[in-house]
Amino acid sequence: MQSGSKVPVALELAGQGPEPLAAYLHVPFCYHRCGYCNFTLLAGREDLHEQFVEAILTELSWLEAPQPVQTIFLGGGTPSILRPELMERLLEGIAKWLPIHGIGEWSIEANPRDITLSNLKRWSDFGINRVSIGGQSFQARKLQVLERDHRSEELNCAIELAMSHMPRVSLDLIFAAPQETLMEWQDDLEKAVCSGVGHVSTYGLTFEKGASFYGRLQRQEIAKIDEQLELDMYNLAIDTLEASGIEHYEISNFAVQGQTCQHNQSYWNSDRWWGFGPSAASYLGNTRSVNHRGTLQYLRKVQSGVSPIAEQDHLSIDQQCRERFVFGMRQRKGVDWENLKTQFPDQTTWQIQNTLHKHIEHGWMEHQGAYVRLTRSGLVISDGLWNEYLTAR
Ligand code: SF4
Repeated sequence: MQSGSKVPVALELAGQGPEPLAAYLHVPFCYHRCGYCNFTLLAGREDLHEQFVEAILTELSWLEAPQPVQTIFLGGGTPSILRPELMERLLEGIAKWLPIHGIGEWSIEANPRDITLSNLKRWSDFGINRVSIGGQSFQARKLQVLERDHRSEELNCAIELAMSHMPRVSLDLIFAAPQETLMEWQDDLEKAVCSGVGHVSTYGLTFEKGASFYGRLQRQEIAKIDEQLELDMYNLAIDTLEASGIEHYEISNFAVQGQTCQHNQSYWNSDRWWGFGPSAASYLGNTRSVNHRGTLQYLRKVQSGVSPIAEQDHLSIDQQCRERFVFGMRQRKGVDWENLKTQFPDQTTWQIQNTLHKHIEHGWMEHQGAYVRLTRSGLVISDGLWNEYLTAR
């Protein structure tokens, strides 16, 4: 459904149940575009940073009253790219409109180059207590292949500095880069463990349409690594990190005790969340809405007082059940199936259960008390399992 009304976003979606627990804000700028990235962002457009900050503050003001949340995630893009005075204006606005209540979590995604003492101090002065570092690798060759704009020495310094000034630090790592070997990946994992970060996210490299790697793959300028090697890398990540006390708690995420990402758990638990900025999604009262993906279009809409929502879907009870199951199953603890069954119509849960039985017989899923969860062999093929649960028959 298209939305082009003059009604502010928050008012379109408000009054549909309990208030959201989480808020995501998307900063759509980067220094340059990495070869594998097809995210919604503009590279090298510092001229638009100020307009963007004004626009997202306007979008926030359409909440009309401060909306307390438990978690905030300032993501992108590269939010840390904003110059100090713009960052301060943005953080001040976020703190005003989305006050964190209780023991909250406020994360910022940062380029290692932006992790300086003054930035860390500025961020924590406004309440940020978790930094997610886009490190991707500690190795010069791999960073170059991935077209990252930081050096491995900068990553080491950034982690050390962040850990001495922020309560929680997370590190992103990519595996299965072209020509990467298992030993190189092992080295990255060991360096991550030695760095002492409390949270690690690992992602296998993908070749998405819109990313320059996609075209280079078609032209055979680069090649994917062997599929079995990629699976071995994923398994190595689980074994290495778990052996070091960094628990595998979601398909791609690992944390020491007490450092799981609370914000992302809102998504996996199908809770409610606000989204602000281009391409950001909100999930409120069974309604999912997504803002315009294009930054220029987002700016034009907000600057003319028009809702930036591009799509809005009302989820049926059947869809809600299926999504709750699939997103919940991403977590290693799985889904409380006995509880879920009591909340949704039998017709939907029977269909899910039929598929579940099949996957249990294959050894991809298992019961554990009231929960069902992925087995180790289910984990590595999980991407291919979800569609069957999401599709009503
Ligand atoms: S820094 Fe992250 S968001 Fe920005 S271009 Fe690179 S991969 Fe994409």
